[in-house]
Amino acid sequence: MGETLFTNVSVIDGTGAKPFDGTVLVNGNQIAAVSRGDAIDAGDAHVVDGGGATLMPGLTDAHAHLSFLDSATLGDINSQSAERHILETAKNARKMLDHGFTSMFSGSSARDNLEVALRDAINAGDIPGPRLKAATRQMTVTGGFGDIGQDDAYSLVLDGPDAFRDACRAAARAGVDTFKIVPSAPGSGPDPLAEDTAMTDDEVAAVCAVARQRNRMVAAHARSAEAVKMCVRNGVQVIYHATLSDDEAKDMLEAERDRVFVAPAMGLPYGRLTEGEKYGVSTDDFTRARAEKEIETVSATMADLRKRGIRVLPGGDYGFKWNPHGRNARDLQMFVELFGFSPLEAIQAATQAGGELMGEPGRLGVITQGAFADLLLVDGDPSKDIAILQDPDRFLAIMKDGAFHKEPADNLAGQRVAAE
Ligand SMILES: [Zn+2]
Repeated sequence: MGETLFTNVSVIDGTGAKPFDGTVLVNGNQIAAVSRGDAIDAGDAHVVDGGGATLMPGLTDAHAHLSFLDSATLGDINSQSAERHILETAKNARKMLDHGFTSMFSGSSARDNLEVALRDAINAGDIPGPRLKAATRQMTVTGGFGDIGQDDAYSLVLDGPDAFRDACRAAARAGVDTFKIVPSAPGSGPDPLAEDTAMTDDEVAAVCAVARQRNRMVAAHARSAEAVKMCVRNGVQVIYHATLSDDEAKDMLEAERDRVFVAPAMGLPYGRLTEGEKYGVSTDDFTRARAEKEIETVSATMADLRKRGIRVLPGGDYGFKWNPHGRNARDLQMFVELFGFSPLEAIQAATQAGGELMGEPGRLGVITQGAFADLLLVDGDPSKDIAILQDPDRFLAIMKDGAFHKEPADNLAGQRVAAE
C-alpha cells in the first residue's frame, strides 16, 4: 500500500463538525494528513480527484446479525445446513462493505463459532468484510425471548448464574469479543408493548463478571425499564432497544454515559410497517399496533436520551425478510426523521461513536491524522440528504484499512450524478 491523496473533496470528519473543502492523505492503513483547501503536496501519491464529492468515515452498525439470512421467522434462522450458513454469512459480510459499513458490532451470532471464524478470515484478508466484533449466540433463559424450543437454535437457553458463567467462559475461550444476553421478554396482556424482565440480577452479574475478567463486552436485549436498570447496575456496556426506559432508567444511563451505548434497533418494526409489503410480509392487526406503538415509544425515548448526551447508535437488527441486509443505512434516516438528530449528528453516531463502540476511540470513525483509513467517497452531500447513504451506487469509492474495497473510477467527475 502506497500513498493515496484525496483532493477536491468536501470532508465530513465524523465529529459532528460542518463539512469543509479539503485534502486527505492516506499512507498505509492510516490517515497521514488532513488539510483545509489543497495544502498537501501530492508527491508520489496516487491522486483521487473527488470532483467535489463528500469524503467521510466508513459507517458502523451497532446491532448486526451477519449470520441471520434474511429469515422470515426466528425458527428459520438456523434452518440451513451449517455449510450453507457459513457461505451465506460470508456473502453478507461482503454486502456490508458494498453498502458503506466498514465496522459491525454483532448483536449475536446464529451459531457459536461462526462469527469468530468470519472475523478471523476477514482480518487475515481471506475474504472481504467489515471490521467485526464477534458475538456469542444470544443467551436467554427458559421461556425467555428467543427460547423457541428447538435444538441447535439461534439462542442458547441457560438458567442460573453458574450456567451463564460457564457459557461465557467457554465463549471467551472460543475467542468472541462480546457476550449477548436477553434480560427482557415479551409480557402478556392487552398492552402490545408489555415486557417482562426474565433474567435475574445474579445471572446478569455473572455474565458481567466474566466479561470484566476476560476483557469482553456485554450487549443486552433490554426493553423493560427494569432490564435496562439491571444492565446499567451490573456493567453492561451496550443496551439494545431500551424501549420502556422510565426516568430512573434514563437517569442511570445518563450517569454512565461515558461507558454505555444505546442502540434502539428499530429496523424490525419500522421495516415491517414501511417495507413489509414490498417483501411479501403480511402483518396482523396486533403486530401492526405493536410496531406502531414501538416506533412511537422508542422515538420519544431516543429523543430524550439524545438530549441527555447519551450515545445512541444506529444498528437495526437487519437480517430478516422484511428488514434485509443492505438496508442498514436506513437507520440514519430514522435518527433524523424520528429522533430529532440533525443529519451530521446521525453521521456522528454512525462514525465517531461507532469507533468508540468498536474499542478504537479517536482512531476509528473519524477523519483525523493517525486514524484508520476507513473512508467513503460519496456522490452528493449526506449532511443535506441523509437518505443517499442507502444507495450503494452513490459510493464512488470505499476504503477499509487503507485498501480500496471499491476503487474510484479514473474520471470521477464525469461519473457523478449529484449536480450541486
Ligand atoms: Zn438483534
